[in-house]
Amino acid sequence: MPDFQEIARLAEECGFAACVKLDLQTLEFLPAVRDMCAENRCGKYGKSWACPPACGTLEELQEKVLRYSAGVIVQTVCTLKNSFDWKGMTDAGTRHKENQEKMHGILKKEYPDVLTLGAGTCTICETCTYPDAPCRFPERLVYSMEACGLFVSRICKANQIPYNHGEGTVCYTGCFLLE
Ligand code: SF4
Repeated sequence: MPDFQEIARLAEECGFAACVKLDLQTLEFLPAVRDMCAENRCGKYGKSWACPPACGTLEELQEKVLRYSAGVIVQTVCTLKNSFDWKGMTDAGTRHKENQEKMHGILKKEYPDVLTLGAGTCTICETCTYPDAPCRFPERLVYSMEACGLFVSRICKANQIPYNHGEGTVCYTGCFLLE
């Protein structure tokens, strides 16, 4: 069983504002959430190994996720100048990915199969190799929570962590799954 106190300390060190134990029983793999990927609002549908359709079916991702026995939810929270502070939002997203990558690297030493679920597509490489060549770093690849059919706000609520940290802030949520 992972030492969650130690993992929370590590999360803080990596720049996350919050880290709680994830109850895997709260994960619902919803076709309606996954279907939103095909609407391609993020522009990444069919552009990455980590996104539909290349990431596998909802059932395949569900099976992959449920192979893990433990996990944590992590959040990066940043302050915005105002509600039109797009740069602040983008910078916060970048910071979340950096925090995620740093923590993944450290966790990997103790949990070699650690899997990261992120907010949005995998951005490990500047340009994804999809579809011309295999993924460069399959062991670091980040699946988006939405591709897994996970309704992020509902999962936060079920695990007693705020989804929204109040006016003037932006919050990005991700998970690490551990064996
Ligand atoms: S690790 Fe690189 S090649 Fe693999 S899915 Fe992510 S961006 Fe694409």
